[in-house]
This record gives sequence, C-alpha cells and structure tokens, in this order.
Amino acid sequence: MEFKKSQKLYKKGLENLVGAVNSPVRAFASVGGNPLFIKRGRGSQITDVDGNKYVDLVLSYGPMILGHRHNKVQKAVNKALKNGYSFGASTENEIKLAKIVCDAFPGMDKVRFVNSGTEAVLSGIRLARAFTGKDKIIKFSGCYHGHQDALLVAAGSGLATLSLPGSKGVPEGAVKNTLIANYNDLDSVKKHFEEHDDIAGVIIEPVGGNMGVVIPQDNFLQELKEFLHSKEALLIADEVMTGFRSKFGGAQEVLGVEADITCLGKVIGGGFPVGAYGARNEIMEMVAPLGGMYQAGTLSGNPIAMAGGISTLRELKKQNPYDQFEEVGKQIEDILLKAAEKYGIEITVNRFGSMLNPFFTSTKVTNFEDAQTSNTKKFAVFFWEMIKNGVFLPPSQFEAWFLSSAITKEDIEIIKKATDAAMLAVSKM
Ligand SMILES: *Cc1c(COP(=O)(O)O)cnc(C)c1O
Repeated sequence: MEFKKSQKLYKKGLENLVGAVNSPVRAFASVGGNPLFIKRGRGSQITDVDGNKYVDLVLSYGPMILGHRHNKVQKAVNKALKNGYSFGASTENEIKLAKIVCDAFPGMDKVRFVNSGTEAVLSGIRLARAFTGKDKIIKFSGCYHGHQDALLVAAGSGLATLSLPGSKGVPEGAVKNTLIANYNDLDSVKKHFEEHDDIAGVIIEPVGGNMGVVIPQDNFLQELKEFLHSKEALLIADEVMTGFRSKFGGAQEVLGVEADITCLGKVIGGGFPVGAYGARNEIMEMVAPLGGMYQAGTLSGNPIAMAGGISTLRELKKQNPYDQFEEVGKQIEDILLKAAEKYGIEITVNRFGSMLNPFFTSTKVTNFEDAQTSNTKKFAVFFWEMIKNGVFLPPSQFEAWFLSSAITKEDIEIIKKATDAAMLAVSKM
C-alpha cells in the first residue's frame, strides 16, 4: 500500500493550513506518520487519493450513519441546491427537521438549530444558566463538549491524545465556573453541591465517546437526574455523538432517562454542519426572541444542511438499523477479543450499540482514569496495521469507532483479517 499522493498533499497542506488539518483529531500525532487525504466515499467504504480503499469506521466521527453518499440524501440535497443556498429568513425545511427531532426526543418541545456540536453545547449551557439563574456547571473528566472555553478542561480524546492539560489561550476566568467530577461517580457530583450553592446543572455525555467508549454503570444517570432535581439543577445531555445513533431517540431512549436540555450534532446533519439544542417549553421560552437569552446564527437552519438532515433522519427511521448495529457491533467486539486472545494481548472492549473500541489495557474502563491505563504505543502499531489491511480507524486510542448501516458481510471479513494481522503485529513489539 502506497501513500505517495497523500504525502505530497500533506506537505503542500502544511504551507497554508495548520498541520495540514482543520481539526487536530485528524492529525496522526499519537500514532506517528502523516494523515491520509481522502478522495471519495461510497456506502461503507472510502478511497484515499492514492486509490487505497478502506472500510470506514471513522464515518466523519459519527455523522455518516447511513454510509457515504446515500442516494436519498444526495437527491434531497441536490433538490435543495436548486432553490438557493441561504436566505437569512425561515424556510419550511427547518420546521420539518424540528418536528422529526422533537418527536424523537420526548423531553424536547422546541429546538433551536445551530451549525455545530460546539455551538449546540455552549448554547445549552447558557440556557441552563439563564433558566436557573445560577452560574456553575459540572462536567465529567474525559467528556468532550466541543471547544468552547468554559468546557475545555479535562476534555478527553483530542487533548488526551496530544497530552495537553487543557488549552492555552483559555483564561482562568473562563473556567472558574466549571467544576470537574468523575464519570460513574455520583459522590464526586454531590461533593460539589456541598461546597457550592450556585450550580446550574451537570453536562454529561450519556454514553462517553470521547475518552474511548465509556458506559454509564448501573443507574448512574437516573440517580444523577434525581439528585440534580432535588437541588433544582438541570441535567444537560450532550448527545452530539449518541443522538440518533444509540437509538433514534438517542442514549436517553436506551437508558430511559429524559434530560432537561439536550444537545445534538453529528448524525442530525447527515454530514452537513448542523447542531441543535432543545428542551421543554418552559425552558426554551427563555431563548430569544421569546425570552432574554440571546443566541443567533447567520447560517443556522441552513436550507441545504436541513435537507441533508431531514433526508438522513427519514431514511434512518425507515431502516431502523439499531438491531443490525447491535449484531455487527457484537461481531466486531468478538473479532477483537478473539484475535487478542490468540496472540496473548490484553485488551478491554467497550461497546454501546454502534460505538465501540478496544483499549490496550487489562483494566475495566469506566472512567477517564481507567482509559488512560491503555498502552498507546500498542494502539499505534495496531492502527497502522489496520490501515495497511484496509480498515480506516480514528488515529487515537481515545476515540470511538463508528458503524454505518451500509456495512456488509465482506466488510466484516476485511475487518477480521486486518484485526488478525494487527494483533499479530502488536504481539511482535
Ligand atoms: C463531536 C462532539 C462535540 C462537538 O461537536 P462539533 O460539531 O465538533 O463542534 C460535542 N460533544 C460531543 C459529545 C461530541 O462528540
């Protein structure tokens, strides 16, 4: 397998782009080597500029749940393009997507569309503060909620991969209202409430996906919600990754917990830039123009992006691939565990529906600290062997792998062969 054209583009990209990437998670900093340049995708697979084909388990970090270029989505977007790209005025498609979203999440009476997950969360946080009149927010170590200043502390994969404690350029003042708790540890939340009386709410990935996959244990979310409500604080679910992916109604549907404020992104736009935040009427009526919480966007509810989102969610609802995800996810989990056993390599596999990943550790992984016991050098060797055998993975130990409904039996065979080769390579380290 040759990467000549990717190498050439990478060098060219370095001139006018930062590290030749527009998001640091795309850099290969923690696995070595240089990032690949992708030419096109179709269904479950992508092709790089050198003509190498891969089964895609990155899927744009989640959005491409139907696989690449689904014909229904392509048709809807082409149709929307004919009417114009943006108006700065309302279009019918916004109402249609809002209805689909509010029907899927019973806790959402109203929704506001934005352009990214980051925007959705920063607005959701502002809304929690506006509604409660309190300033402090608790987040969990290892959860990532986008790159807004206030939440760029103890923020999982991108930062863990680059070994940064937080980020330069974030002033102390910006994080002084952010408190950190441990995932799956309600006492660490309660402790903050003993010390502070101005906590607006807790933001959580209901299933952790940005420290690798980390699953809420027992009744963690239910108990967290009950506790928060006893303190008149809000549960803010960051379902940017899990929304429409864990189930059509997100992780909240699977886990049976309804959040006060829900933040969405990724799948909701089907590959186009869409984010959203929503809640029951009482809370959403705080948002301008109904209320005093200001939040705006020139391209918010963009008609092309709305068309991408509507067609993706309609097709997703029709396909209802969640049983298939469970089945395929389990197959890949078994493939990983069997190959690791065959070559005597200790791994832990965490999986929640169509999100999974192996950690190169023997420790059970239930929080960020556990995840960090992983051997990232082993992951780097594993990663490159998977690439060379035709499987595209996120270039970090601390990222989830994603499944699309377009994955085939042949793809799973490719994953199986690649995994065997990759575990063999790890065993020879
Ligand atoms: C990806 C992600 C975000 C940020 O979304 P962007 O569209 O990258 O800004 C926020 N929260 C979670 C849980 C995510 O996975």
